[in-house]
Amino acid sequence: MIDSVLTPSLRKTNCRQILVREDSVLRKIHKTIGSKRPEQSGMLGINSETDVITHYAFDETSKGTTVSNMPDVKRLNDIINDDWKPNGIQYIGGPHSHPPGVHRPSSGDREYGQQILEAKRSLEELHIWIVIPAVDGHTYEVFPYTLDREGNLELVELVPVDENDQPIIADAHDHSQSEPSTLGPKRPPVVIQSPADVLSESRGRAIVDISGQYIRVHEAYDLARLAASRLVFIGVGGIRDTVLYCARAGVQEFILIDPDVVSESNIATQGVYRDEIGLPKVEAVKRELIRINPNIRVVALQQSVDEIDDPAFQRLLHDPMMELPLPGFGGDIYRELPPSVTVSVAGTDSFEAQARNNRIGLKWEIPTLASQMYERGLGAEITFTHPDTTRACHRCVLWTRYRAFLKEGFQNTVGSSSAPICATQRLAGLESFMLMALLHHGTNHPRFGGLLRRIGNRNLIQIRMDPDIAASLGLKVFDRVFGTVDHDRSLFDDVVWLPQEPEDGIKDRPICPECGGNGDLHSALGKFEDTREMPK
Ligand SMILES: [Zn+2]
Ligand SMILES: [Zn+2]
Repeated sequence: MIDSVLTPSLRKTNCRQILVREDSVLRKIHKTIGSKRPEQSGMLGINSETDVITHYAFDETSKGTTVSNMPDVKRLNDIINDDWKPNGIQYIGGPHSHPPGVHRPSSGDREYGQQILEAKRSLEELHIWIVIPAVDGHTYEVFPYTLDREGNLELVELVPVDENDQPIIADAHDHSQSEPSTLGPKRPPVVIQSPADVLSESRGRAIVDISGQYIRVHEAYDLARLAASRLVFIGVGGIRDTVLYCARAGVQEFILIDPDVVSESNIATQGVYRDEIGLPKVEAVKRELIRINPNIRVVALQQSVDEIDDPAFQRLLHDPMMELPLPGFGGDIYRELPPSVTVSVAGTDSFEAQARNNRIGLKWEIPTLASQMYERGLGAEITFTHPDTTRACHRCVLWTRYRAFLKEGFQNTVGSSSAPICATQRLAGLESFMLMALLHHGTNHPRFGGLLRRIGNRNLIQIRMDPDIAASLGLKVFDRVFGTVDHDRSLFDDVVWLPQEPEDGIKDRPICPECGGNGDLHSALGKFEDTREMPK
């Protein structure tokens, strides 16, 4: 926390200045909204004679719902009618808190503000102040906006005033630890982000010119498509390098979900560094993403995917980044448009999480990808779906694994822990290649735009990283596909693309209970009430 009182009134800025009582408003906001988790709210009252904001009421009953604040309307109206109006104080809006990184009013905030302006014709504008509370080590900040009747947001400058409405000139000595304070007990600091700081910060983060990064690859990808693409990663451990490769390719929106923290043993297997030990894995990856491209928009969720219900997941898949100010959702950098395409990726060894990824793809008709390292990294597998080109869902492809899971409680015990780093990198290369194909599908990019159609229904991909994989793992498909032609030259480190048909009930096998087995992955929409539950 910055331990000083900033005095924006002394700064040379072009922003409109609003006089605000320090004791009855600014310090109270700091003590209430500013010290509690988002989302909290309150309301502001202005003295219509002097144009000074003199009154503040905290909405103590507001419950931090996931999406919006639910103000206790009756109590607040009582305050306005019984206390404020008789004293010439007019309601003019209020502060509410957002998670760190979400400094601007969301489009929901603006809509709600417009409704208030419609209802209160005497108001020229509404104050919507965004407060970043001082919790979890974050710095307390206030971003004061006003909303006018045309829907324009304006960042204003708050000038703290005393009881006589005189601007308070900060004196650094008042806050020095070494000199006795004349103010009695040390008061909590009031930190007001100056408009100039906010503007330069958002400029600095949102409009960094990174075009030089791509001069050698501007034909390799459809960069505009990738910049508007979103990747959701369920698990960011073993798949970390794939995430970073996609950022280097130009993908700019990432949702990272992983409950784990970086451990020492991850250094040998997951591309992390010693100084990241103990850091949440999502936080470590987020830092790397921003090192690659400061314009990247990333939401890092240190939680299990089971903690995210379907309504929340739907928002993570489709909502514009700037509209994800949910508690704990730190949406950074604002993009007002939804992503052009979202791919959900299971980057975890957890079978349940991989299975949920399949249902997420089916429910929202989005492309998905999952991968699995085989024992000792002797081979690996990728499965993917795109409702436009593949006919079998992951469950159809891996039906024997599902059966083992349901009947015998199958748990994957292989994982990346027994694999050499070269096997992990081999898999990461193919994963990011497939993600490029999924993200570019439907564009006219000469290489990737039509690749998914070319691959067709071959959505089980196996990599052989051991020339004797038939003997070592019993995986004979490579010998069947490649082995009979030539006995002098050999193939390995090769990839076989296996066509997959849906489980439609023939050959004594059950109809796939997730996609329905009719070969149309679009048609499973709405089938899952809750994608966290696996149909038997
Ligand atoms: Zn808001
Ligand atoms: Zn299926």
